[in-house]
Amino acid sequence: MWKIKDYMEGHFDLSLEEMKSYGYKIVDLIAEHWATLDTKKPVPTSKSREDLDAVFLQEAPEKPSDSEEVLNFVMKNVIPNSTVVSHPKFYSFVPGPSNFISTMADSLATGFNIFSGGWLVSSAAAELEIVTINWLLKMYDFPVKKGGGLFTSGGSMANLTALVTARRIKCGDDFSKAVIYLSDQAHSSNIKAIRVLGFKKEQIRIIPTDFEFRIGVNKLKNAIAKDKLEGLEPFCFIANAGTTNTGTVDPLDEIADICEAEGIWMHIDGAYGGAAILSQKGKRALRGIERADSLTVDPHKWFFQPYEIGCLLVKDSSWLSSTFSEKPEYLRDIEGNESEINFYDYGVQLTRRLRALKFYMSIKTYGLGTFREAIGYNIQLAEETEDYLRKSRVWEVVSPATLAIINYRYNPIDENLNEKQIDILNQEISKRVMESREAVFVTTILNKQVVLRMCLINPKTTIEDVKETLQQCEVYGKAILTERKKEFN
Ligand SMILES: *Cc1c(COP(=O)(O)O)cnc(C)c1O
Repeated sequence: MWKIKDYMEGHFDLSLEEMKSYGYKIVDLIAEHWATLDTKKPVPTSKSREDLDAVFLQEAPEKPSDSEEVLNFVMKNVIPNSTVVSHPKFYSFVPGPSNFISTMADSLATGFNIFSGGWLVSSAAAELEIVTINWLLKMYDFPVKKGGGLFTSGGSMANLTALVTARRIKCGDDFSKAVIYLSDQAHSSNIKAIRVLGFKKEQIRIIPTDFEFRIGVNKLKNAIAKDKLEGLEPFCFIANAGTTNTGTVDPLDEIADICEAEGIWMHIDGAYGGAAILSQKGKRALRGIERADSLTVDPHKWFFQPYEIGCLLVKDSSWLSSTFSEKPEYLRDIEGNESEINFYDYGVQLTRRLRALKFYMSIKTYGLGTFREAIGYNIQLAEETEDYLRKSRVWEVVSPATLAIINYRYNPIDENLNEKQIDILNQEISKRVMESREAVFVTTILNKQVVLRMCLINPKTTIEDVKETLQQCEVYGKAILTERKKEFN
């Protein structure tokens, strides 16, 4: 491969041939990765900070290095030390199945370094974002003409953008008496956003959920009434459309009734579950989602996009512009008319990469039908997993298959284990699966119990994959029980 020769003169240009050979090499590596994904282990061998420091810790070099050496070093040390989140046996957290078309689309957007802030600089980029946001508005039955939205770095940024907007529209400048409500199952990014916004602890109400992890509607009503009596100003409720832990959807219609009656902003965090709208079952589960004032969805999760792309939708696009639009002198010349949107007026970022391109190209290329099938398949797969577990004498379902998430634990009926023993057992099973590097399978806590959780949003995952992992767990479970026989009796 070519070597950097005369780069000391302060320019970065490569010849056409050099660029092509370098670029093709990288495309080959990515394509091979996609083609052989499921033959690899998803979990890297565990390395400590010391291990990695020994490999990476160097001063920034003053002199050029051989380009192939740098690339080889990265392929040897960076990629293999990263968990394969799109692997069929990556079950934990929220998998990142991604897709190849969007991967290449991202390369195009980066390759041409398309500025996606304002109409004047890249009108087609803004147009693509308008068109794809309109697709999403339509999916959720939001008004396409009046509504609007933007792509963000992820769900966290979408939630933050929503809450800034809600506060601006509902409270204006004085939010000293404002109170915000969210469920105890709300994603941590919401609390983070509330903290970023500078609310005090006294202005936040965490509403307990019921045994199915849904918000207690009466508890919400009571909390609002109490705050109003005390002269406070309830302004926003954050509802869940698919909690990250269990996939649970709050009773959206009932919540919307309350929010409407009380004049409270209803934000729905659909970062996990929102994409389920594309399937029949998901659509039913998400009934009422169209009544939100603002909605977070997260295309880099269940819309199968590579990182980073989140999305915020709002019922009225002027809410965004009146919250985020600032007009400094030097941006004067690039202001468009109302229909030619400058997306820097809709959120925090000025310079933005072209996130809409991957969403656009993947939906155009695969068709929405492919997405519908994949999402329907994922929901079905979790239900099949539940059937398998319920037929077994060693597994106990803790939270049923909901929007492709299921929680359960290893708890053989014949063993009569106590809660503490079951916790230890499941923790240890998860640990051994991870050590085997065969699957990414960690625990979560539900009702103070240690449970194993599967989030099955990868269309590559088959029921055979799931059964293999469960059988692996059963072998470990048995072994642990034998090893700890004395201690457990
Ligand atoms: C993942 C997630 C988020 C945060 O989204 P990021 O893209 O990770 O920033 C917010 N809410 C819910 C419900 C999520 O599952």
